[in-house]
Amino acid sequence: MSAKPKILIVGAGPCGLTAALELARRGFTARIIDKEPGPTPLSKAVGISPRSLEILEPTGVTERLLAKGIRMKGVQARYEDRELATIEVSRIPHRFNFLLALAQSETEAVMEEVLRGLGVTVEWNAELTGIRPAGARAQADVSGARGGTFDYVFAADGSHSRVRDILGLGFTGYTHKRTWSIADVVIPDWPFAEATAMASLHCTGDMGFIIPIGPKRFRAISNTPDPLGHIPGASSAQVSQSGTFHIPVRQADRYQAGGVFLGGDAAHVHSPIGARGMNLGIEDAHAFAQRLAEGTLDGYTAERHPIGRRWIVLSERMLGAVQSSNPLLIAVRNLAIRTIGRLPALQKPMMERIAGLRE
Ligand SMILES: Cc1cc2nc3c(=O)[nH]c(=O)nc-3n(C[C@H](O)[C@H](O)[C@H](O)COP(=O)(O)OP(=O)(O)OC[C@H]3O[C@@H](n4cnc5c(N)ncnc54)[C@H](O)[C@@H]3O)c2cc1C
Repeated sequence: MSAKPKILIVGAGPCGLTAALELARRGFTARIIDKEPGPTPLSKAVGISPRSLEILEPTGVTERLLAKGIRMKGVQARYEDRELATIEVSRIPHRFNFLLALAQSETEAVMEEVLRGLGVTVEWNAELTGIRPAGARAQADVSGARGGTFDYVFAADGSHSRVRDILGLGFTGYTHKRTWSIADVVIPDWPFAEATAMASLHCTGDMGFIIPIGPKRFRAISNTPDPLGHIPGASSAQVSQSGTFHIPVRQADRYQAGGVFLGGDAAHVHSPIGARGMNLGIEDAHAFAQRLAEGTLDGYTAERHPIGRRWIVLSERMLGAVQSSNPLLIAVRNLAIRTIGRLPALQKPMMERIAGLRE
């Protein structure tokens, strides 16, 4: 293709914004549309991985995120209010040897601001309503008659992806029955280490997870309807945002059809255990931009689908382990956590996977 290709990115969440940033820094100008009036006000994903920080570094996004976020140094695992182990994220052999904790709303705001500086403005209130082949290209209908014909479309339009549905790409999987809850809280007298997340496990299979997102500010998640019910030391918590959700576990059968490519939640959804949801989407967007620049987009599904699959399998195993109520399995799991806690060499492979540095 001699002239610069025309590219449309559908969705201005973290995946779509990364695609626009990654294309812009390679000299491509994409249009990026979103049906909402502006960026999400919700804190959603709060853990940014070292690999995502690496990807976002050349555009200057990482420097700004680092100035805002909390460098999470470790994760403490507890069982029935006794410490099992603290896994030190800081052992990752990388210059970003931490998970950066920051509300997704703030991450997206930084990405959008940097993108604007690169000359690309998100078109808000612009909904993709139709897409169909037009020769080797794709004709996209966008609300307000702002559609057009594009060489490539990158669909980062979330788990309910309109693009995926219109193209008839399967999204195979299931949804877990348990009702989970989530809350953003301020805990003025938090008694534990501030830059450390905590997983609090129980014999019933109920669990609570708490992650620092700012001074005295935390994100609490539980696999029960009460986000703070299983967190020790949270009695003084003041809740700012809260809600419940179910966990879907699904993956698109293919990530591409003609010139249309799926990334982020449009391609894969799974449990928040391991904090990979948003980060996998950032990696998809990076792979899309790199392959477009190299002319190797044909290999996009072959690269990204197995990575998404492996993480879905691993996060389901982790989910099964943390919410087990089988006494034998609990004994084995707790012994494994204690052993991993004592032997840093055993922590490395898991930490590298969560960091996005090993697939
Ligand atoms: C309450 C909650 C808590 C979460 N917590 C975590 C967590 O702790 N850790 C974690 O890793 N992940 C978490 N997630 C998941 C994480 O937020 C997602 O993985 C991440 O947002 C995916 O990014 P994305 O860009 O692929 O999709 P999204 O962020 O969903 O963005 C999709 C965008 O596409 C737009 N769009 C949709 N359809 C159209 C259309 N037809 N036309 C134009 N625009 C369209 C939407 O408006 C949206 O802005 C959470 C999600 C929720 C809802």
